Amino acid sequence: MPYTNELKERFLRYVAISSESNAKNPVVPSSEGQRELAELLQTQLQALGLEAVELNEHAILTAKLPGNVEGAPSIGFVAHLDTVPVNLSAEVKPQVLHYTGGDVCLNPQKGIWLRLDEHPELAQYAGQDIVFTDGTSVLGADNKAAIANVMTMLSIMQRENRPHGDIYVAFVPDEEIGLCGAKLLDLEKFKVDFAYTIDCCALGEIVYETFNAASVSISIEGVTAHPMSAKGVLVNPLLVGMNLMSRFDALQTPEHTDGKDGYWWFTDCEANAATCQLGMNIRDFDRTRYEERKQFVLDTVAAVQADYPRAKLDVKIVDVYNNIADSIGQDRWPIDLLYQAADKLNITPNTIAMRGGTDGSALSVKGLLTPNYFTGAHNFHSNAEFLPLPSLHKSLEMTLTILDLATKR
Ligand SMILES: [Zn+2]
Repeated sequence: MPYTNELKERFLRYVAISSESNAKNPVVPSSEGQRELAELLQTQLQALGLEAVELNEHAILTAKLPGNVEGAPSIGFVAHLDTVPVNLSAEVKPQVLHYTGGDVCLNPQKGIWLRLDEHPELAQYAGQDIVFTDGTSVLGADNKAAIANVMTMLSIMQRENRPHGDIYVAFVPDEEIGLCGAKLLDLEKFKVDFAYTIDCCALGEIVYETFNAASVSISIEGVTAHPMSAKGVLVNPLLVGMNLMSRFDALQTPEHTDGKDGYWWFTDCEANAATCQLGMNIRDFDRTRYEERKQFVLDTVAAVQADYPRAKLDVKIVDVYNNIADSIGQDRWPIDLLYQAADKLNITPNTIAMRGGTDGSALSVKGLLTPNYFTGAHNFHSNAEFLPLPSLHKSLEMTLTILDLATKR
């Protein structure tokens, strides 16, 4: 396939830069590797002749390829610079193997294998060139497969002089630790009618529904007392916290829900004799149910406060991101385009309601519709992550076909 080599070379170049984000660092970017990758991309974008190439203090890189067709829509592509911080090496040492079937030995020294019985999805790629890890890190196809895709697309548009409207790109940091870069993206530098992310998942997957997400922090101040004079005085914040948690439906939790069901998830509990801090995530696809879940938290805290008048309860709820589908206006065309492109390429679309968020969920809050399509990789966030090169090529063909169809509308 014509662009496979370029895609592979770019991908290997980008994953060689370690760019794991760091959830403990409150600044954006949370790690210097992300800036290093952004600087490399900045140089490459300039060499490709893009306009308005701008790298800001948050390592957000934006650029524009001006259109050569009057009236064609302005389309954006967003990809993230960071790889997920997990308990693995931050150095990525990829290997390209021609997969002939069966188990794959990722690392003979350390005896790390990719076993077919644990990863049956591998079987369908027999006969293909696949990029694997060496078993000690993630691969970083999340999201450098998308960066390779977008950079190759820009190069093709230029050298093949293809017709297109304005194309904007944004490479953003710290997606994995709270969509931080996308939240800080200045839409004045990204003047698009709609945009796409190319994040996650196997050939054919399309996502335009994500959770609505809020994070909740509840603080409970008790009353401490010496046990000899505690009767009728002491208010134990741990027991108040337990009482509060017990008022939530034990079946509406991540471990008891799937599909389009939402949940409450207590994620943190830090307590001592004086105070108790609880952390919680609220997730729901449906806007009304999501708002009801938030209200239920407020009502429950009020009810517990009424039952423990001498304790002091406080609750904060912060919206983290929105369901992408909520930003679909009158015009579903940006989503329809995905299906038209897949159809043209003989790709069977697999629509997923994602039980999570993408950079598109953060952009959706700003009113910018940003659905997502596949990179072609599997097993994100683990050392079993792998990227079949023919799937990456299909992902690039999706990008090219979307632009082609959009320009011809
Ligand atoms: Zn990602």
